[in-house]
This record gives sequence, C-alpha cells and structure tokens, in this order.
Amino acid sequence: MLKREHIKQAIDEIAPRSPEIGYSLDELLGTGRIDTLPEEHGVSGDGDFRFLFNDEVLTVRRFIFINNSAVAIQQQLLIKYGEMLKRREILDSRGDISYRSAAEEVHAAGLRFVVDYEIDLALEKLRRDASRTDETEAGGRILDILSGLKAERNKRADLLLRFAGDGPDAPMFRGIVGNEVPAFFVSFPYCRNALEQAAELNLEFFHVRFLLNTLIRGNDSRLFACIVEGRIAGLLYLGMRERLFYRALEIVYVATARGRLQSFPGLSLRGVGSFLVAAAWMLWKTRFPGVRELVLDSEVGAIPFYQAMGFQARRSFNYVLEAPRAYLLDSIIALAESCPELPPRELRGLADHLQKQIGKLAKGGHAGDIAALRKPTFRAVRRSLLSRRHAPLAKTAAETLLRYRNRIPEADELLRIAAQYSNLSFPERPPGSEQPVAIVHDLLFAEHLKGIFHMEGTHRIHSVDAALRDPSLENRWKAVAPRPATDDELAWVHTRDHINRITRTAGEEIVSLDLDTQTTGRSCEIARLAVGGLFNLVDEIWNGDLRRGFAFVRPPGHHAEPDRAMGFCLFNNAALGARYLELVYGVERVMIVDIDAHHGNGTQKAFYGTDGVLYASFHQFPCYPGTGSLGEVGEGRGEGFTVNIPMPKGSVDRDFALAIHSVIGPIAREYSPDALLVSCGFDLCQSDRLAGMNGTPEGYALMTFFLKEIADQVCGGRLIYVLEGGYNARCIEECTRHTLRELSGIVTSDPEQVERIRSTAPRKTAAVQRAIEVHKKYWKSLS
Ligand SMILES: [Zn+2]
Repeated sequence: MLKREHIKQAIDEIAPRSPEIGYSLDELLGTGRIDTLPEEHGVSGDGDFRFLFNDEVLTVRRFIFINNSAVAIQQQLLIKYGEMLKRREILDSRGDISYRSAAEEVHAAGLRFVVDYEIDLALEKLRRDASRTDETEAGGRILDILSGLKAERNKRADLLLRFAGDGPDAPMFRGIVGNEVPAFFVSFPYCRNALEQAAELNLEFFHVRFLLNTLIRGNDSRLFACIVEGRIAGLLYLGMRERLFYRALEIVYVATARGRLQSFPGLSLRGVGSFLVAAAWMLWKTRFPGVRELVLDSEVGAIPFYQAMGFQARRSFNYVLEAPRAYLLDSIIALAESCPELPPRELRGLADHLQKQIGKLAKGGHAGDIAALRKPTFRAVRRSLLSRRHAPLAKTAAETLLRYRNRIPEADELLRIAAQYSNLSFPERPPGSEQPVAIVHDLLFAEHLKGIFHMEGTHRIHSVDAALRDPSLENRWKAVAPRPATDDELAWVHTRDHINRITRTAGEEIVSLDLDTQTTGRSCEIARLAVGGLFNLVDEIWNGDLRRGFAFVRPPGHHAEPDRAMGFCLFNNAALGARYLELVYGVERVMIVDIDAHHGNGTQKAFYGTDGVLYASFHQFPCYPGTGSLGEVGEGRGEGFTVNIPMPKGSVDRDFALAIHSVIGPIAREYSPDALLVSCGFDLCQSDRLAGMNGTPEGYALMTFFLKEIADQVCGGRLIYVLEGGYNARCIEECTRHTLRELSGIVTSDPEQVERIRSTAPRKTAAVQRAIEVHKKYWKSLS
C-alpha cells in the first residue's frame, strides 16, 4: 500500500538536484493534488500500486515499488510533471491548436521529460564515478552513447524502431508473436525513442532508470527487446550464474507489453513472453556452448506460465528448463528459421521434442493437458513442415504425423499442406478406408415418456435402432455409451432453479412443464443421460480415432432455455455440448449449425451475447417457436454471431443445401471454429406432421455432404451431430440411414446435384439472399 510518506520521500530525492521540480511537486502534494487513494483503490487487480496526480490515477509497478518505492514513484511523477509544463506552455501560447494534437503533444512531452531527466542523472553519475576511477575505454563508449542521447534532445525522432535491413542493425533473430505477426529480437537499442517507448509502457522491472543504469554499469549487452511493428513489445534481461564447472544462463527479468499499449490497435500481442524465452534459448544454443542450462527464479512472475513452457522446479524459487514444450517449442521453431547457425545436434533435439509432443497428443491423457497442447503443437508442426531451412524438422514432423495418422484428426490436412509446399509426398489413404461414425444409441432413451402417447414418443428411438441394423451400415459405426450429466455440468447452461424443477419430476407419473412438454418417472434420469451421452461422444472424437459422431438421444434439447423447459426439451444438449468443449477442452470457438425445421430458441438464447459460440440456423418461418427472424443477430460481443436464415413453408432440399453451402460455409471458414456441432432434426421431411417443409431423406445426405466439407476445411473434420426433432417413424429411419451412410464415407449424395448447388448463384433463393444482405456487414466472406 502506497502512503504519503512514500511520495514525500520520492519528491525529497528529486529536490536537491532539481529544486524547481521538487518545489512544485511538494506544493502539489501539500494542496492534495498529488494524493494517495483509499485502500480499496490503491492496489490494482494485478497487485500494482496506484496514486493520484491531478485527479489522474497513476500506476506504480509492484516489483519496482517493493524494491525501490522512490524510483517507482519518481518515474510517474516526472512524466506527469513534464505533461503539466507542456500543457501550461500550450495555454500560454494561445495558439490555434486542436484538442487532439494538443493532447498528443502533452503526452509526448511527459515521456520526453522523464527520459531527459534520467539521461542527465545518468551522465552525472557516470562523471562522478569516472572522477573516482581511471577513465577506461568502456567508460568512453558509454559516455559517447549518453552524450549522443542528450544531443538528440531537441530532434523529433522517428517514432518507430526500425530493424529491417541485413546490415549491422539487423535483428539477432526473427520470429513471430500473436497470430503470426513478425517480431524481431534485438539488443536493447539505446536511442531516445526506445527509452520513451519504455517509459510509456511502464513495464514491470524495466523503468527508464534501470535501463540507463544497466548501460552505465556496462551490462547493456545483457538487455534485449522484442520489437513488433517498430515498437517495443517486451524486454528481457539475462544473467550468468557461474560456479566452478557450472554455468547457467539466467532469465533475470522478462516483461511484456500485453494489453498495455494503446498504439497497438487491433494487434494481438500474445506470445511475446514465449518469444523472449525462446530467444534466450536460441542465444544459449548458438552463442554459449559452455552453458549447461537455462534457469529462472520464481520472482520473475507467473510460474504456471513458465511451467507450461517446460520449466520445472528444482529447489525452491529455482526453475530449470527441462524440455521446451507448447508455445515455447513453437516459438523456438519459428526463431530457428532465422538461425542458420543452429548446431545440427540442437536441431535434432528440437525435432525430438516435437515428436514427443505429437506422440503425447496422439496417445491422449488428461483432457486439460491435451487441450492446452493441441494448438501450439499443430502450429509447431505446420511451421516445421513448411521449414525451408531445416529439412530434419520437416521430415520428423511428417513422419510422426504419418505414424499417428489415425489418431490425429488434423494429420491429413497437415500432410496435404506439407505435400503442397514441399517436395515431400505421402501415400493417399486408400479409398473406402473411411472411418466409422461414433454413435450414442441406447434403448434407455425410449424410457422417457414411456407408456403415454406423445409426438416426441419412444417410437423415435426404435426407428433409429432399425436404421442402425441396416446391413449397409454394418461395421460402419462404433457405439459410445452414455453417462449421466451432473448438476454442476447442467449449470453451465441452466439455472439451478430449472435443474431442481426437472429433478423434482423424478418418480412422478406425469408432470406437464408446459402445454407440449411432459415428463414421466424416469425422464430426468434419461435427460441427464442424453447430455452426458453427448459429452462422452465429444470425448471419443477428441481423444479417440474417430472424427464424426451422432448422438441419437432423447429428449431433444434446442428449445430448452437456460431457465425453462420448452417444446419437448428439458436440457439443451447441444448448448451443453458446446460448453463442454469450451470448459473441458479449452476450445475457443464452437459453431452450432441447427438444421431442425424449427428454430432453436434455447440454443440461440444461451449464446446470444458471446462470440465464443456461433449459432447458425435455417428453419421454417413463421412457425413454432416464433423466434429466429432475420434481425436476430446476437447482441454486444455476440452481435453477428447468431445467424438466422428463415425459410418459407414448403422449402426443398436445394434450399437447405444452398443455405449451408453459400451462407453457413463462408461464415464457418471466416470464423474458423475448432469444433462443429449439428443440431439435427429430421422434421424437414415432407411427411413430418409438425412442420411444413418438403425435404427428403436424400436431402439429409446432401446437407451432410456439405457439412462434412466445411468440417474438413475448418476443424480437422471433426463433426458432431445431436438429434433434435423429427416425428414421423419412417422418415426418422430413412433419414438416419442416409445421414449415417454419408457420415461414414459411403458417397450417397448425387454428384450432379452437388455440382448444381455449387454453381447456383446465392441470389437465386430469396431466403439465402436476405440472410447474406443482413450478415455481410459482419462477415467479409459474404460480400
Ligand atoms: Zn423441430
């Protein structure tokens, strides 16, 4: 907690050097314009300290404060003091200056002021030390740099730091951060510009005085920066731990600009931390052959972050890099591309790490661990496959993928990329070797509403059962057993009240939740099995060999809202499946495509305000439940992430396929989900009594053909269907058969019809045309 004494002490240290600044600051403190904050506001969420300067809240980084509160506070005071002077100057000049450019000038003046102050201070320190010791050559070099910085004082420097060329200023390494944004690793550039950027960033550890002290002490060769688009994105300070026969490279400090820099509009700065650690690894491997290991103290900050990279605790507070993994491995492989001097032995080591990491994914294990490894591993694999410089990396990646081809859904797509961009070639999968479909099917699902007449009746499960016995599907599917979902899992989507209301129906002969929605004695138990069945199916697809699945469960789910049962639905299976992917597998984006004849009001409601789940539906409109109009597009962060394609009664197969091909497909490719769920109702069929559409069972094969294509393109082929409506027994049996044949790889869709859909201009269908008009402002791919 920052106290007035701290501020007073900081000002008292300024006063002897700069009486005028000291006096002004003292006065501001005396009149309360500089002040502490009440306890609850005095510490930020990150544990940093805060105080007030002319009603503006200033942040003092925690570690710097604890080590030297005066310096920490001075840096912020000096910036604001410099701004104050500039503001007065502008007011006095009464010039014709816009508010915006005045604000920019004031901001820049504050940063300039603190840097000037610190350069003067450093020069004084250097001269004082030099008068005590002999002037050395090193001292001369440092004096030259500082004098140069001072001389630049009134020059308006170029705002960006440039390291493009291959000359003496060329970066040491080139790599990537965020979403493949190029980044440079350089020795910290001692120029005003870099110092001002550092002052603006206000990073932990690296205040301007630290940077200049590092120079004065001759340690500047240990200070490095990550530069992204001409700006400092992070800083790194290395040390060497030496004992007899032992040397270790130590990461003393590392700090990144994530989320701190307004000048980076829209640029993702994730991955700067692993970039800097990767660069430290690369320095070690290319410049310090005698060094045994890379270490860091737990003081450096987020230990889970370093553990995820492969650091292991050795003694208390001491961490050693055992084997680079996850994003660190990816960052190192990216850097390796700019390091021709990487020794072959180290390159083989990297290839081994990559191979082990792919193996780990293929073998499965703790779901959370695997989920955290998946994305960085595939990034690293893809990067290795495309490596121009290091053939052994590309070869290892390709061989390992081939070995685990059947266990890694992404493998084929990655191998295709490898074949396209390199001279590697791979055996095609033999035709007809398509994988079986994972199926949740259990006659227990006929227990819900058993013994009473209902449209959503037990006959539906018997129809599915008959379809699955069809000889054409023999050996084409693999059973996945259901399991009950817990209250806590149901609460991912539903309110506790709702869960309790359904739970209370257990054992009751019959309960009506609304006009359409009833329960019998075992309904609650079966509804939990339906949800848990989908969860187990997700596990099978994520950890097992198979890529496509269908959960034939009852009751259906897409009308169930977070707080109520509705339209035959108790719990929202599809919405819970999406949450399961998010929470258990760390999936960032899920897309749910709803091809039931009715709109899935419950699923839409569950995700209306989020961009993490995209809900797309086509359906008969107007019709039950009344929602799903064109204008319902989501709200807040979710705006544009609900896509409704209302269709008139009587729409046919071609309309459905066209909606998938020309609206849902382009959006899916742009949204790039990690998983595709399909809420599949068989009530688009013309003989269904609860809807008025004119679809056919062949139409379900056609829709599945296009959905498979989308899944193959965006999420490694992973495609999970869950049963919603569909009430005509014959239709259900026929549609199940057609859908499963197509899912299991028997091509049943008519190639000519597929071609016709592909070549149909979207404007041929009014429904599709209108949906494109509404959504093209959210999705570039539609315009
Ligand atoms: Zn329906």
